[in-house]
Amino acid sequence: MAPTHAVVLGGGLAGMLAASVLVRHFDEVTVVERDKLPDGPSPRSGVPQARHAHLLMSGGARAIEALLPGTLDALFAAGAHRIGVPNDLVSLSAQGWVPRFPEMQFIVSCSRGLLDWVVRSQALRDNKISVLTGTEPVSLLGDRDAVTGVLVEDRISREQISLEADLVLDATGRASRLPAWLEDFGLPAVHSESVDSGLAYATRIFQAPPTAASGFPIVNVQANPRDPFPGRTATLLPIEDGKWLVTLSGTRGGEPSTDESEFVSFAGSVRNPVVGELIAEAEPLSPVYGSHSTANRRMFFERLKSWPRGLLALGDSVATYNPVYGHGMSVAAQSAQALDAGMAAGHSEQQIQRGIGKVVDGAWAMATNQDILYPGAVGKPLPLAGRVLQRYVDRLVRTATTEPPVTRAFLEAFTLSAPMANLMSPKVFLATMRGPRSAAPEPTLTADERDRVTG
Ligand SMILES: Cc1cc2nc3c(=O)[nH]c(=O)nc-3n(C[C@H](O)[C@H](O)[C@H](O)COP(=O)(O)OP(=O)(O)OC[C@H]3O[C@@H](n4cnc5c(N)ncnc54)[C@H](O)[C@@H]3O)c2cc1C
Repeated sequence: MAPTHAVVLGGGLAGMLAASVLVRHFDEVTVVERDKLPDGPSPRSGVPQARHAHLLMSGGARAIEALLPGTLDALFAAGAHRIGVPNDLVSLSAQGWVPRFPEMQFIVSCSRGLLDWVVRSQALRDNKISVLTGTEPVSLLGDRDAVTGVLVEDRISREQISLEADLVLDATGRASRLPAWLEDFGLPAVHSESVDSGLAYATRIFQAPPTAASGFPIVNVQANPRDPFPGRTATLLPIEDGKWLVTLSGTRGGEPSTDESEFVSFAGSVRNPVVGELIAEAEPLSPVYGSHSTANRRMFFERLKSWPRGLLALGDSVATYNPVYGHGMSVAAQSAQALDAGMAAGHSEQQIQRGIGKVVDGAWAMATNQDILYPGAVGKPLPLAGRVLQRYVDRLVRTATTEPPVTRAFLEAFTLSAPMANLMSPKVFLATMRGPRSAAPEPTLTADERDRVTG
């Protein structure tokens, strides 16, 4: 029998995780990537969002570790921080300060460049995976019933070759052309939805003071979407090499500027000034980078009645989320696990795509139900049931500021470590209905942590 072959389009995080799964089920895997891939944690043009804060939630971290054992140790050895949640987290949620209870979950905090490089190195240790860099897909081969490969083109020589494949998986991210290719096959337009709060990001890297270069918490001031003004946030992440990566954001009408002289004052102008205070004297190491690629946008591939054999999509090419929730990479990792489970069970590509849609559901609901509340948000208004759920979540997050069992349930859901449905379990529901039983905590940065920065 001829060896079986899978092609992955896009060599980003989702593409590398998908390749690491497919190599268990096919004899060879070829990754087709537009960029030249750097041999180190450097930024590259195909992942411009890598300049900005990227939190890897524990749910996603565990998924990556299950797919590529040893990745977390490799990340920590390379300088990533393991942030216990909520003990190492200073966070003003929409409903108040999150208390620093003993660890319930964790976040991996490092630059996105480091994360991608470590995951890529782990995946490419398997020599049955090869990468065609500087290469782009032109069109799919096959027809509406079955995809049989992909026509690709070298970006410099413009030479085209046909890659025959038993499976083609699209992981080219938010600019994916898969919906257009499906229409070229004569399939109906893919149903899509979007909710856009008009959010903009501005990010700058600082040298952390030597006394705060390690063991410092993530500091995060979130917005309250019910405020009658744009939502603004400020987040400080400890990353590798004793640096802080600080990301500011603002929804429509409240966007941060990329003017360097306004960075610290914006950070101090959000609902609590703590991030602005911490970076007031810190040495900047980079310019301010901006991003507007922040809308929630979902392609409901799983709803197409007919889906070609030999085709799948995963990662941002399926759905993107407002990045302040920090879920995109974790959903990609858990989708790769769904891919593995579906392939192992012998499911059809259509069934596997539906499984990936189920993974997307939770993060999609969490982000869009909040974002539609921001002033000027563009998207379909929520039905009554959705508005009732929003009120319940507000109350739950408020209750989580004092009641540990609710804090735990909330953090499990927020880090994508447990299904959203757990937020409706009888125990959590009753505690949420009772509400907070003590006064909400005060700002949670300790005097010692502040002293390590301000002296
Ligand atoms: C500002 C911002 C901040 C974010 N913060 C977080 C966060 O805190 N936590 C989190 O979990 N997620 C975050 N995300 C989301 C996260 O970046 C994405 O979910 C994640 O990158 C998805 O991975 P991907 O591989 O699907 O797409 P990408 O990472 O975008 O990778 C796509 C790959 O495909 C390649 N490619 C593109 N087009 C082609 C083509 N035509 N041919 C060949 N190759 C191609 C690209 O070069 C790239 O390698 C953030 C997103 C943004 C925009």
